[in-house]
Amino acid sequence: MDLFEYQARDLFAKHDVPVLAGEVIDTPEAAREATERLGGRAVVKAQVKTGGRGKAGGVKLAADPADAVEKARAILGMDIKGHTVHRVMLAQTADIVDEYYVSFLLDRTNRTFLAMASVEGGVEIEEVAVSNPEALAKVPVDAVEGVTEAKAREIVETAKFPAEIADQVVDVLQRLWTVFVEEDALLVEVNPLVKTGDGRIVALDGKVSLDANAEFRQPDHAALEDKAAANPLEAAAKERGLNYVKLDGGSVGIIGNGAGLVMSTLDVVAYAGEAHGGVKPANFLDIGGGASAEVMANGLEIILGDPEVTSVFVNVFGGITACDAVANGIVQALELLKSKGESVSKPLVVRLDGNNAELGRKILTDAAHPLVEQVDTMDGAAARAAELAAK
Ligand code: GDP
Ligand code: MN
Repeated sequence: MDLFEYQARDLFAKHDVPVLAGEVIDTPEAAREATERLGGRAVVKAQVKTGGRGKAGGVKLAADPADAVEKARAILGMDIKGHTVHRVMLAQTADIVDEYYVSFLLDRTNRTFLAMASVEGGVEIEEVAVSNPEALAKVPVDAVEGVTEAKAREIVETAKFPAEIADQVVDVLQRLWTVFVEEDALLVEVNPLVKTGDGRIVALDGKVSLDANAEFRQPDHAALEDKAAANPLEAAAKERGLNYVKLDGGSVGIIGNGAGLVMSTLDVVAYAGEAHGGVKPANFLDIGGGASAEVMANGLEIILGDPEVTSVFVNVFGGITACDAVANGIVQALELLKSKGESVSKPLVVRLDGNNAELGRKILTDAAHPLVEQVDTMDGAAARAAELAAK
């Protein structure tokens, strides 16, 4: 989960990383009092989950409270790389003498953590990496040892930070590492980390991405989710513990067991859909190994609740959970939905293969649900689901 700048700033403050005071507002008029509270001047910053806000005109200095209202009015509603600005953060202005870059991230390729740092901050770091790669220091961080003072010093020296601020940057790096570890982050980035006129080091912009796999031990993180931006179907699926992703512009609802099978089902449906005017899969949904009736019912409920879905393809390869159990799950799921008063009015194409496929098919045949159709092959079932969706 990527955070907004103001949320990253809050996490920094929580772990004693030096930041400047700020307030988040969503109407231009609110900028007046907020700016007064911040000392009469402020920097007005668009809160969108994308970089390059400065270049796009989403970061503006306001000289006084009235000016802050005007700047907030200009920025609120702005579109930055496809993100609409709903909120701005007003922050205390910094007297910037120098801008640097520091980050910690998970380096999957090298199976370690990585610190990156540069004295050429402020600009987009991707540009520095291309135009002047020597200016971007990369220092591996051992997962067990972490960022000790010695490691922080190594980063500072490799990136050639000026001697007079070295101690402060060493300290900030260790605090940022604490944010990274204690908040279960995958990325902690500060750009720019600035030196102010009075010689202090301050994190002026923060980007933090949290590891969703650590949610179970980070109860506070749920509150950081951007509920307004979340897709309602995805939110409902998440509440039920389903592994669901809504796909744009599709009409064939997909349920399968196993991420790999579901991925290939999406491809097969998209391919079959070409013969029906470009019908596409509407979602990814992996109900996993132990597909109980309840899980199947939850999955069907989410998919049938998608107004864009016009047919459903249930693609199951029986393994540890055999096809007869899945077939019973489907039958019970349809009954469960009916008893809950949910009208099941979209056709379901079911393909069962693998462990106990024969028995599973027989269970569905005997149940004779008017909307359930069986096709024995994956390609055939995909073609039928696409055809039904196109009708
Ligand atoms: P980004 O463009 O999305 O990365 O947004 P940043 O928060 O990094 O801001 C972009 C640039 O605006 C920074 O690199 C600074 O040069 C400038 N900036 C941000 N806050 C202040 C401030 O308080 N005072 C001054 N003078 N400049 C600022
Ligand atoms: Mn920045």
